[in-house]
Amino acid sequence: MTTTAGLPREVMGAMDARLSMPYTLTAGAATGVFLAELAQQRIVGTRCSACETIRVPAQDFCGDCGGDAHDLVIVPPSGDLLAWTVTDQGTVALVLLDGTDIPFLHQVVEGDPAALSMGARVTAVWAAEPQGAVMDLMGFALAPSEPVHAVEEAGETATPIEQLNYQMVLDYQHAYGHFYGSLFDGIKNDRRIRGVRCPSCRNVLVPPRAYCEACFVRTGDWVDVPDTGVLQACSVVHIEFIGQRVPPPYVYAEIVLDGTSTRLIHTVGGLSAEALRSGSVHPGSRVQAVWSDRRTGSLSDIDFFKVIDGPADE
Ligand SMILES: [Zn+2]
Ligand SMILES: [Zn+2]
Repeated sequence: MTTTAGLPREVMGAMDARLSMPYTLTAGAATGVFLAELAQQRIVGTRCSACETIRVPAQDFCGDCGGDAHDLVIVPPSGDLLAWTVTDQGTVALVLLDGTDIPFLHQVVEGDPAALSMGARVTAVWAAEPQGAVMDLMGFALAPSEPVHAVEEAGETATPIEQLNYQMVLDYQHAYGHFYGSLFDGIKNDRRIRGVRCPSCRNVLVPPRAYCEACFVRTGDWVDVPDTGVLQACSVVHIEFIGQRVPPPYVYAEIVLDGTSTRLIHTVGGLSAEALRSGSVHPGSRVQAVWSDRRTGSLSDIDFFKVIDGPADE
């Protein structure tokens, strides 16, 4: 083990990450009709029986008085642009459709955002192929000569769409910070694993961190750590589950890298089925990292750990 002088030349800043959540969206009765009717290029709203507020999309409860009694109405596909925000993904807009009382949040899909003005007349832009979803109404476009139309009674309406499959996707960057950034930079560029030494207990901590959690003191020197170590604990995984990186069977292990006092969670691979069955991988086995051809700057740059000078198992 050697102590590095100073800090790494470059620190990786952040990891591109994506949080993806598939779920089903229950529309409710009134909004279900609103969604279903978009395929007919009709915009369905509700008129509250108590306060007569007309809102789009149709809602089961009045947002003004809380009343649950209402009539379904057909709202014209034209209105006034009240406000808008230009984003990288498009122009988000509040449109007050003719005859309604509550602005409808949607988007402006055509034309130069610079041409927009408060109170401008807009008209609906419909999808060529309706999908039974809110984007069947793609948004609104400027229509300066569009006359004002009236709200009408809905009469017969389509069967409500009760449930939508929905995928919420959030792209974000996870900031590594100084310590993880230095570790991952070393892994990516030099295949070096770096830890930090606590000046009080002298333990070497991997991954590196700002404070020793045993002594509550700031950590000190950076230390290069070998890619060999000892298995502290392990489980043989035989079942499949979502998110698995390697097909079972494999060994999930806590590894103490030589010279360190922390446990690294990784896998032990390159083992025959017989080796797994016979339990020849066990706490105390010596292991070494098998580096991948990928250089992503994460612990997945190590494909797995292999057993070295342990029991004969291959
Ligand atoms: Zn009301
Ligand atoms: Zn310490």
